[in-house]
Amino acid sequence: MNDDLRELYQEVILDHSRRPRNRGELGPEAVHVHGDNPSCGDELDLWVRFANDGRLEEITFTGHGCAISQASASMMTVRLRGRSADEATSVATAVHTMLTAPAATPLPDDLGDLRLLEGVRQFPQRVKCAALGWRALEEALHLHRTRRPTTEG
Ligand code: ZN
Repeated sequence: MNDDLRELYQEVILDHSRRPRNRGELGPEAVHVHGDNPSCGDELDLWVRFANDGRLEEITFTGHGCAISQASASMMTVRLRGRSADEATSVATAVHTMLTAPAATPLPDDLGDLRLLEGVRQFPQRVKCAALGWRALEEALHLHRTRRPTTEG
């Protein structure tokens, strides 16, 4: 990582951790998942409201912990709001690859700004922090897929 990119990385992480986007709770119609990362003390609650066509109509979170855990979750909500469940799944897989693959591995194309989280890979003890929101997202997608259809509405 060159110096410019490192600076940008720090700037974006700090900005999202100080002013998290899409912060808050959603109502009972949303899927809610709690996640934690005991090795660092990060806590996160994620809400996703799925539209009838399966898009992630709203995605919000609350939580506390280190800057990387909160910034990664904030960036995730910005990236995935309004996207299809399939796209969310594929972005989550791409992020997982970015955080865990060896340094020389080419990164998936669809990461966009999330590529800035690549720097986390240099700090193995921080990978779980960056992955916390994404693990919660994968669980929310799973709950949505397996949840019984409701008759209300
Ligand atoms: Zn952390």
